[in-house]
Amino acid sequence: MNIPHDIYVHVPFCVSRCKYCAFYSHACATPDWDTYTRNICAEIEHWGHKLGPISIPTVFFGGGTPSLMPVTTFDKIINTIRHTFDLDANAEITLESNPGTIDAQKLSDFVLAGVNRLSVGVQRIDNTSLAFLGRRHDLAMAYNLLNAAQKLPIRLSADFIYGLPGDTTETVTNMCRDINKIGLSHVSMYELTIEENTPFGKMNLDMPTNEQMADMYCTIAQELKLPRYEVSNYAAPGNECRHNQNVWYGGAYIGIGRGAAGRININGTWYEQMGDNAVFAPISPRDRAVEMIITGMRTTRGVAISHTIMQLINTEFITKNPELVHMNDGYICATEKGMLILDDLLLKLVK
Ligand code: SF4
Repeated sequence: MNIPHDIYVHVPFCVSRCKYCAFYSHACATPDWDTYTRNICAEIEHWGHKLGPISIPTVFFGGGTPSLMPVTTFDKIINTIRHTFDLDANAEITLESNPGTIDAQKLSDFVLAGVNRLSVGVQRIDNTSLAFLGRRHDLAMAYNLLNAAQKLPIRLSADFIYGLPGDTTETVTNMCRDINKIGLSHVSMYELTIEENTPFGKMNLDMPTNEQMADMYCTIAQELKLPRYEVSNYAAPGNECRHNQNVWYGGAYIGIGRGAAGRININGTWYEQMGDNAVFAPISPRDRAVEMIITGMRTTRGVAISHTIMQLINTEFITKNPELVHMNDGYICATEKGMLILDDLLLKLVK
């Protein structure tokens, strides 16, 4: 029997490219939305034929800049999902947005069409940093969008970046205090990473050291008035992103659009899937279990213990390193110290 799958819809367009961005997206202010909509709806129908009318607990429109999308495009896509599958009555429907690409009226129209969770790419609380990152918006535009969203009956999240050249624990403390004043129930805090083939990748920037980054990471946990529930995510209890939690906990999801990846489960077999139906291949139980350990360990809950998972876990390492990782109530999870070195920790944890 087929199980519920979440849906991720990738919207691969941005007005321009930020200097640090390595995501798959095109700089294009006026995309061909009709062609995009047709292709996305055809992919949804393809999965409908393959999986049947399964239940869909969440839909996440990520990008790129999904808020660039006309509301009519969103409407056609969400209705295709509704007609093809069994979209839950209380489904979480998230739209990623960038300030300056959506005003209060358009946001309200998105909400009427079904969006009930908005994620805003605020990134920084000062205009100098926003310009440095190559963001198109300024702080006033970000606050306008947050204020408009706070008047609507939706859940609200915002993304921020720390670890820019010159950032210190004091910078991060001030940033967290400003974020606290906004009164968000969900915040994502990403460390700036320098990727090849981006303008920043060619600039030889004087980045903070690993130790300075670690200090900033710990400062965020102390200053933000929201508990961390994943390496980079903080939420008031009950306001966690259900879509991302499903991915981290090893649930099934369909990736729609060329830049999207999914993990499909058909009659108990897992398949790797890439949007645009470019890839669809079975994953061995071992590889899938390793993936579940890697994503589950990103969360403060940890990875759920099962027979398959335990066959891959170096239990001696857990016993000898209680300051880094522990087993609790059916889960293996990293401590605060373990989270700081998660990649190294995973290399030692998985046999
Ligand atoms: S808005 Fe987001 S996806 Fe678009 S270029 Fe900037 S960082 Fe990349």
